[in-house]
Amino acid sequence: MIHPAPRIKHDGICRAALDREAEREAIFAAALYRCEVCRMPVNRYGTAQLAHRIPATVANLKKYGAEIIHHRLNLAPVCGLRCNDAVLIGGDPQAREELVDRILAVKEKEA
Ligand SMILES: [Zn+2]
Repeated sequence: MIHPAPRIKHDGICRAALDREAEREAIFAAALYRCEVCRMPVNRYGTAQLAHRIPATVANLKKYGAEIIHHRLNLAPVCGLRCNDAVLIGGDPQAREELVDRILAVKEKEA
């Protein structure tokens, strides 16, 4: 039985991590490194954050899948915890479904 070379597997993992980092950077750049909520620089408290609009809870990951939950449209550049809370739409079913529909439409276009 032939096993895949560990090196190839390792490269794949690294590339995925790089893609995620590039995606994060692209989201911050598109927002001009400003907090989506308060419009202050995202790093005003030290570390810029990408907040999940639909929270990345175990239940939501199970319901919607990681591709929806970690999609760029579900991520908002914010400066800190208070602004992080302000982008949450976990408790608003209609807003949540609209966002999921929008992400699915974008994913379909990109496929
Ligand atoms: Zn803010």
